[in-house]
Amino acid sequence: MTFVVTDNCICCKYTDCVEVCPVDCFHAGPNFLVIDPEACIDCTLCEPACPAEAIYSEDDLPATFQHFVALNAELARLWPVLDAAIAPPADAADWNGVPNKLSYLKR
Ligand code: SF4
Ligand code: SF4
Repeated sequence: MTFVVTDNCICCKYTDCVEVCPVDCFHAGPNFLVIDPEACIDCTLCEPACPAEAIYSEDDLPATFQHFVALNAELARLWPVLDAAIAPPADAADWNGVPNKLSYLKR
């Protein structure tokens, strides 16, 4: 099993999750973070830490977010590890809760 970052992280990228992860699972792109499924030890700490409620256990992932499993695995191979919190985008609060943001994902 792993944990999965989903749609509402896109354009929010608060990075609170990074601070709690004990094994540096998070990889950061321009406006989204993903979890490396090979590195995640299922500690559960990141899920409640995310202000955008964007992180799910793979076992609890809603059907509408199933495509994020492959997306996390793919982008974790491409993007560098982020192991310390950084400032969110200036307009992060405006994007929090906006549905279906995948078309805004920057690679
Ligand atoms: S805390 Fe949530 S919104 Fe922020 S980067 Fe992590 S997964 Fe994305
Ligand atoms: S469940 Fe734990 S190990 Fe996995 S990404 Fe979240 S904080 Fe990191």
